[in-house]
Amino acid sequence: MTDRAGDCMPCDWLTGNMARTEHGGAVSDPRLCPMAEEGELPWSGRQERPEPPRWGSQHAGARELAELYSPGKRLQEWVSVILCFLLMSFNFCYLVRYFSLEHTVSIVLSVVAGIITADFASGLVHWGADTWGSVELPIVGKAFIRPFREHHIDPTAITRHDFIETNGDNCMLTIIPLGCMAYKFLFLSPGWLNYPLEKIGFWKRLEDLIQSLTGEKPRSDDLKWAQKVK
Ligand SMILES: [Zn+2]
Repeated sequence: MTDRAGDCMPCDWLTGNMARTEHGGAVSDPRLCPMAEEGELPWSGRQERPEPPRWGSQHAGARELAELYSPGKRLQEWVSVILCFLLMSFNFCYLVRYFSLEHTVSIVLSVVAGIITADFASGLVHWGADTWGSVELPIVGKAFIRPFREHHIDPTAITRHDFIETNGDNCMLTIIPLGCMAYKFLFLSPGWLNYPLEKIGFWKRLEDLIQSLTGEKPRSDDLKWAQKVK
């Protein structure tokens, strides 16, 4: 492959620094080199055969990587997005419910700490996936390493992805922390289920069922302790 550095300096610099600029947000401007962006060369027919594009969606490597985006991966992204948004809504309702002005200072500190943590964690994950692993690794390779290989030869690919593909994996990473949060909210339960469960005799029925299966009387041990006099 011929070096086209002379044709388009900003793109060479841009391509070489993609991992950094993407998060820094400093330079990611395809206008710097619209030709290379489209993967096309100014070829009039009088010149020699066009060189293969060095980057962009027409790059052979980028096309091959894009084709590895599978229906299974798509499903994982959909499930992740749906679970993430369900958990966020659930937790948001509880946050509003337990909101109190006296928590203002800790809320502000938590927001700042959260932004810094997210910034560092996303940088760490990005660096890890940019630097290590391979697309050939079972499962993780095609699912999670592939997009990192793709964006280095087709940096604007993400701008052509839809909401699900762009956010699927990020949503997936939030599911465990959001799930823990939801679990804690349920644990500090407001008792909303007490009335309906009482109404259908849930606990009585459950006790009868267990008694019929095991022969144990409910609370018999509890009662034995309560009856102790000395
Ligand atoms: Zn990268």
